[in-house]
Order: sequence, then structure tokens, then C-alpha cells
Amino acid sequence: MRPDPILRIDTAFFWEACERGEFVAQKCGPCDILWHPPRPMCPKCHNTEKEVQQLSGLGTVVSWCVAVRPQAFGFEESPIAALIELDEGLRFVSNIEGVAEEDMQPGIRVQVAFADTSGGKKVPVFKPVSE
Ligand SMILES: [Zn+2]
Repeated sequence: MRPDPILRIDTAFFWEACERGEFVAQKCGPCDILWHPPRPMCPKCHNTEKEVQQLSGLGTVVSWCVAVRPQAFGFEESPIAALIELDEGLRFVSNIEGVAEEDMQPGIRVQVAFADTSGGKKVPVFKPVSE
């Protein structure tokens, strides 16, 4: 079973949104850019005035790997770990579910879903877009 996310002062909003089934990122007030992972200030202008914006949850697989050793903690089989370019332009590292490792390709369209953790929390994973 997946381990629980670790909530910190700067990341709690993200994991709490996941609990509600929402996929979000931080957005700078003054310069309007989005960023992930969460951090206390804008990576471009260093302003701390930020808001939380809902994302589409849609993206495209850029690259991926499956850890052979060490075995991924909390999993019977190591999951596919992928770099996903979200439609909003952010890059996000997550797991891909619903695709066999041998069927993975760059460019697969994916959408966010939320997987349960051992402590009853939820974390984002990605599945192929059903068309
Ligand atoms: Zn900014």
C-alpha cells in the first residue's frame, strides 16, 4: 500500500486538495505564473503573494522508469514513475496506472486520478485518457 504523503506548512494545501479530489498548483499574484512542487515564494519574482489554482488534470507523458532496485517502498511491484507535462505547462512526477510497462510511450495522453494510501489519504496518479 502506498505510504501517506507528508504534510508540511508549504505542502498541506496540495495534499488537502487531493483529499477533495482536486488537483491544484500555486500561482503567483504579481507575475501570474504557476509552479510545482509547492514552495513559499514565486520561483520567478520571489514574491510571497500566491494563490491556489485548479488544474485540468490532463497531461502528456514525457518520460518514465520503473525502479528495479531498491524495490519501491509500500508496493508489491514497483510502479511506473513518469514525468508528465501538464496541459498548463508544469511538469509533474507521478505514477502511471492502467498501462503495462511494455506499452509505455512518450506522448501518451493521461489524466489525474487519486489513489488511496495506507493511512486513508489520497495521492495523485495518472491514467490514460479514455476517449
Ligand atoms: Zn512571481
